[in-house]
Amino acid sequence: MNLIGSFNANVGMHAGIEILSKGGSALDAIEAVTRLVEDNPDDHSVGYSGYPNLLGEVELDASIMEGTTLRAGCIGAIKGYRHPISIARRVMTELPHVMIVDKGAERFAEECGEVRENLLTPEVEKTWRDGLEGNGMIGWSGIPEMLTSLLRRSRGVTRDPEHATGTVDVMALDGAGHIASAVSTSGWAWKYPGRLGDSPIIGAGNYCDDRYGACGCTGWGEAAIRAGTARSVVLYMKMGMTVEAACREAFADLHPLLKGTANDMNLVAMDRHGNACGMTSAEERQFVVWRSGMTTYEVLPRIVVVH
Ligand code: ASP
Repeated sequence: MNLIGSFNANVGMHAGIEILSKGGSALDAIEAVTRLVEDNPDDHSVGYSGYPNLLGEVELDASIMEGTTLRAGCIGAIKGYRHPISIARRVMTELPHVMIVDKGAERFAEECGEVRENLLTPEVEKTWRDGLEGNGMIGWSGIPEMLTSLLRRSRGVTRDPEHATGTVDVMALDGAGHIASAVSTSGWAWKYPGRLGDSPIIGAGNYCDDRYGACGCTGWGEAAIRAGTARSVVLYMKMGMTVEAACREAFADLHPLLKGTANDMNLVAMDRHGNACGMTSAEERQFVVWRSGMTTYEVLPRIVVVH
């Protein structure tokens, strides 16, 4: 049994370890971990208190995948519900669809009995406002100006100095040999309203298959969408590569996209035996790993690749 996540999954690891240790499913374990990260008010990249879009609205994306059946559920650009991962799971199990977004997602959340609430904390609202004011964007008079400003400032406003790694990736291998993977995020801070990153897109930010393994991405979502990164890592493992070689190959695919930009990509992956790999094009990122037999998870450094 294995449970692996991006560093910010640490606040929820205990819940997933408990579920797996008691014989629970990978799917239940990853959902439980992700929900605790979505609840964490100190994490401004996921769920409650996430950084908002340009208009000051917290807009969340999430996806969940089951490696046994390749079923998946995804939620995009949902506002007012703190647990998009659970709504994504209900999409997977109850709808004949894979992804629903925006108002449709909110309607479905309501039908699922989720409680609507304000996710924008006063602290985050102030950070958003200061960011716009500092950027001369309060009082903006048109979309082109707004977009130019967004692009110019994106690096500065998307990096939270306290929690530099945004988005949460969680994947598990349970005692029955099943794999599941989850990704949840508030996305690119100050993003254009309605923007979807890689996190809710199966194949881009999230993918798993019991026969080969799993991969989750954080970082510049646009690159993971364009390179089909999470699916690529799993495919490279299918082709016989080790989990580390598969991640390196995916970074080779990303290289031309990342080169010359200020953007980074981070991967967490696991093969079907539970061997884990964390890789990043940024500096000094970590990830968390638990294997059966360990009393708690350990924090490991990611392999740094240069672009
Ligand atoms: N990958 C996420 C996105 O593009 C953001 C992040 O991981 O920081 O929405």
